[in-house]
Amino acid sequence: MQRFAGKVALITGAARGQGEAEARLLVEEGARVVMGDILDERGQLAAEQLGDAAHYLHLDVTSESDWDHAISEVSDRWGRLDVLVNNAGIAAANVPLAELSLDEYRRSIEINQIGVFLGMRAVIFLLTKDGGGAIVNISSTAGMRGKPGRFAYSSTKYAIRGMTQVAALELAPLGIRVNCVFPGAVATEMIFPDNGESRAASLEKHLERVPLRRPADATELARIVLFLASEESSYCIGSEFVADGGFLCS
Ligand code: NAD
Repeated sequence: MQRFAGKVALITGAARGQGEAEARLLVEEGARVVMGDILDERGQLAAEQLGDAAHYLHLDVTSESDWDHAISEVSDRWGRLDVLVNNAGIAAANVPLAELSLDEYRRSIEINQIGVFLGMRAVIFLLTKDGGGAIVNISSTAGMRGKPGRFAYSSTKYAIRGMTQVAALELAPLGIRVNCVFPGAVATEMIFPDNGESRAASLEKHLERVPLRRPADATELARIVLFLASEESSYCIGSEFVADGGFLCS
């Protein structure tokens, strides 16, 4: 299926994990994809593996000038934009509220929340130039249910719900559909870091409350993102799509 023939997508946090999987599926379905991240070597390699339809660029989502540069690059290279996936994010350290530093809290807000704001604001003109498009924001089940130790992360992921709704209402008249995805545990380096740090115990505890008893594969989430980015979801605006193996209803 070539749902994205002739279309151009910009994905943040695309050097690895879910962002890389979204880029791969989009290219398979005919899109040209700009993959932004701060992991330059990794992102460059990921884009090379996808061939000429993929291009990597350094895009720190907290930087207004990086967003300006990314929009110019997309415009100069491919002359249009149809899809933005605000996927970049960090899982802040698991600490109780009483021990959470202001710096750590601000860091989460900067990347997970301000990054999504800057991204949505930056693409409006280019998306509307050719008649509209789709924005997909990645939240988390932490944006629907709080958990001890996740104060900073949950704050930012709840914020994405509100940002998605307001943007969806404001941008619908311009032909831009904005929707939001709420993954449960996904088997990426966010929960399986390769630096020796282990979140295995907390993951195991989490999975006890997941009816499917396993984390999702990144591709399972990417398929939902592609649905929301495509015309198949033409009547979805400001909606919330959960993929959590049953966690929230357990
Ligand atoms: P990941 O850690 O593999 O990928 C996140 C990517 O974001 C990385 O490539 C990282 O370099 C990038 N990034 C971090 N800061 C950035 C910045 N300032 N600018 C640009 N890029 C930056 O994890 P993932 O699972 O692929 O995460 C993708 C999204 O899914 C995130 O928003 C995350 O919060 C969300 N999520 C993940 C899980 C999970 O269990 N893995 C669950 C729910 C939601």
